[in-house]
Amino acid sequence: MSLGELLPMTMANDLPGVSSQELRNGVVLQWVAEGVLRIDPPILGTRHLLISAGVHGNETAPVEILDRWLRRIVAGEIVPRQSLMLILGNPAALRAGTRYIERDMNRLFNGAHLLGFGFEGRRAALLERLASSFFEGATAGLHYDLHTAIRNSRFEKFALYPWRPDHTLPNSEYLQLAEAGIQAVLSHDRPGHTFSAFTSLIPNVESFTLELGKARPFGENVGLDTVAFEQAITALSEGREVVVNPDLALPPRMQVANSLIKLSDSFHFHLDDEVENFKPLAPGALIAVDGSQRWYVEHDRAYLLFPNPRVAIGQRAGLIVVHAD
Ligand SMILES: [Zn+2]
Repeated sequence: MSLGELLPMTMANDLPGVSSQELRNGVVLQWVAEGVLRIDPPILGTRHLLISAGVHGNETAPVEILDRWLRRIVAGEIVPRQSLMLILGNPAALRAGTRYIERDMNRLFNGAHLLGFGFEGRRAALLERLASSFFEGATAGLHYDLHTAIRNSRFEKFALYPWRPDHTLPNSEYLQLAEAGIQAVLSHDRPGHTFSAFTSLIPNVESFTLELGKARPFGENVGLDTVAFEQAITALSEGREVVVNPDLALPPRMQVANSLIKLSDSFHFHLDDEVENFKPLAPGALIAVDGSQRWYVEHDRAYLLFPNPRVAIGQRAGLIVVHAD
């Protein structure tokens, strides 16, 4: 298969016939590793762009976006002026149609893989090395790690901005996300073990985890509108400034107020199971109980994000988030 068929090749667990391929416009595709492709324009740009999807294997909409986008590059409809790296994060889980095989890979970055964790740990270590060498030598870099969420959300598309010491979200990045159709931007309050948390620590690289809707199997993502997002990454790859429409409603900026860490198997929420992401919480309400530990809502205009009582003990079972402005 040709390099433009990264997704079918990965799904078939196949190797490409050639390891590099030059398009008629001079753009060069290079196979780096399973599920990883590098794309370079003839004249190298200054801001490298990494787009990853499928770090969770059952989150197919972003994988389809990546596949569609790559085919437009190969067809010459999009002419990159920046170096790009496209990554399908967890090929084995993609083939199995599951979130992960042994361990949730998006908890294994930033050194967590050094504790072992088998197949996903090795893959996280490989992606760290590939992302680091990709951004080496670039004046600046941007990483969008694309996901879809397990449950429904009041904001269908939202961004998570990793925590970094003494660093706040640049306004230009925020406006770019707004133009890409992102409806809320949440800043983390502590270091994490996600792919974007890893790349955010590379000098001059801005990184985001983007949630682009709800997780569904391949072929069932119709109705999810990602046109604005695809236009935005096209503009970025072509080295164009993203033009922000002055009438655009700007997404709320939020920050994490509290992380609910599961302490034991008796952890449970005082909310119904189908609760959506960004559910508004009444001040003073009891949210969760774990033995003698009780979590109450301590802030005005607080919301619950990623509630999941089935995580492993010691992992985050949910986040309480609040408005940052
Ligand atoms: Zn995910």
